[in-house]
Order: sequence, then C-alpha cells, then structure tokens
Amino acid sequence: MTADESVSVRFWGVRGSIACPGPATVAYGGNTSCVEVLCGDDRVILDAGSGIMPLGLSFAPGVPVDADILLSHTHFDHIVGLPFFGPAYVPGNTLRMWAGHLEPKDGGLENVLCGMMTAPLFPVPMGVMASDKTFNDFKAGDSFELGCGAVVKTCPLNHPNGATAYRIEYGRGAICYVTDTEHVPGELDENILGLIEGADVFIYDATYTDDEYPAHQGWGHSTWQEGAKLAEAAGVKTYVPFHHDPSHTDTVMSRIEAEARERFEDTIVAREGLVLEV
Ligand SMILES: [Zn+2]
Ligand SMILES: [Zn+2]
Repeated sequence: MTADESVSVRFWGVRGSIACPGPATVAYGGNTSCVEVLCGDDRVILDAGSGIMPLGLSFAPGVPVDADILLSHTHFDHIVGLPFFGPAYVPGNTLRMWAGHLEPKDGGLENVLCGMMTAPLFPVPMGVMASDKTFNDFKAGDSFELGCGAVVKTCPLNHPNGATAYRIEYGRGAICYVTDTEHVPGELDENILGLIEGADVFIYDATYTDDEYPAHQGWGHSTWQEGAKLAEAAGVKTYVPFHHDPSHTDTVMSRIEAEARERFEDTIVAREGLVLEV
C-alpha cells in the first residue's frame, strides 16, 4: 500500500441501458456507467460504459496510465465505452480487466470483449489496442487483492446473464458498487447486505421508482426505495442511487433526490462530475 491512504470516487457515467445526452439531462448527465476510484495514487475503474471516454480524455498526455477495470458484467451499457477509451491504444499503458460472471470455458472476458470489436460490428479489432492488457475471470463471491493493496470483495447479483457487486477496501475507506440487480419485493438481499455492511459509500442500481417497478419486473433492475432500505439495514454512511433510467430527466431526478433524502438522510444521487472524498 502506498503511504497515501485517501480514497476518492468520481462519477463519469451514471445512466443505465443507453446513453441519453441532451438538454433534459445536462444536470445529472447522459453517459452510461463508469466510476473512477482513486486509492491513493492508484486507479480503479468500475465499468466501461460511455463515461469511460471522457475519463480517458481527462488524463494528462504522455503520463503512463495504469488501471484495474472491474466490470459488473458485460451488457452493452457497461462496456460500450471501452473501444473509445483512448489510453487503451497507447503503448506502455497497462489495463487489467476483471469480471466475475462469465464461464472461462466459454472463453471468458477476453472472448466477450474481443467479440464486441469484431466485423461487422466494429471497424478495427481489439488487437490494435497497443496497451498491455490482461483479462481476469473470477467467480462472483471471490475476494482478491489489487496491486495497489486494495482488497476487493465481491458477491453475485440477481441479473439476467449474471452480474457482480464489488466492495473496495483501501486505507480506512470502503466503497461498494452494486449494479445491476433486481430485488425480491419485501425481502432484503442477504448477499448485498453482507457485502455493504458499514460501507462509507454505497452505490446502488436505482433504475426505477417503486411505482415504475411492477411494469419492469424481470428486467434485472431495482429501485431507489430498495436501495434506501439496504442502506439503512447495513448502516452505510452515504447512499448513492445510480444507473438512472434514460427516461428520467433532470426534473424527475431532482424530485427523486429530494424524496430519497427524506427516506435516507445521507443520500447523494449520482451525477456526472460528482466527487466523493472518503
Ligand atoms: Zn446496466
Ligand atoms: Zn445489465
């Protein structure tokens, strides 16, 4: 572990399903899932949705990039930005990619990501990315340590084709990233409760409101109200509703933020550019 034990979280993409840029989403942002966690000087990236493109543009030119990219799963909204992540094309940069929902016997993560960059879906193959890349498959539920000394704990989520929740512990901080997942109404998810216990920051799939949920049962997503219940039961410090539905305009999002704060006081709804220091 480096001497610097600080942890910060920056949101580059907060949407689910599909990017929705435009005048109705300028305040909360329209990019899909991408969250940057800095453990001291070391960089962990949660998901590679369209938000990873502006993240790549934010790096100082010429400075080598070294990052672990932890993927919740490989639905498009969580990987679509990867082919547009500039640092992946620069020799000397190092990217370690991780996923816990794929079967290695089917070729695992490398096979899925290469498949996205295959004709006639994409003009150039992943082979043109000149950075050093590793593809690391594990089983959701495993724990492992990153080179920076951060301890990563995981659990499986209830989502079509599987997904993985992460808890990153570094210094005195614990950040939990829990998307995409569907709850069982009236029953708190014990796996999630165990993972997020006492976390400093709890990021949760709040695609729907409780009113919208019944029409989307089986789509693999949850509600901000369910996240608030989990936050309360697990004693987390800050609850961050995330993976917003693309139809939720800024007006809808600010109403949700106000209602969520009444339900769980330390709620900060994820928006692009939001930075949380732990
Ligand atoms: Zn998603
Ligand atoms: Zn998904």
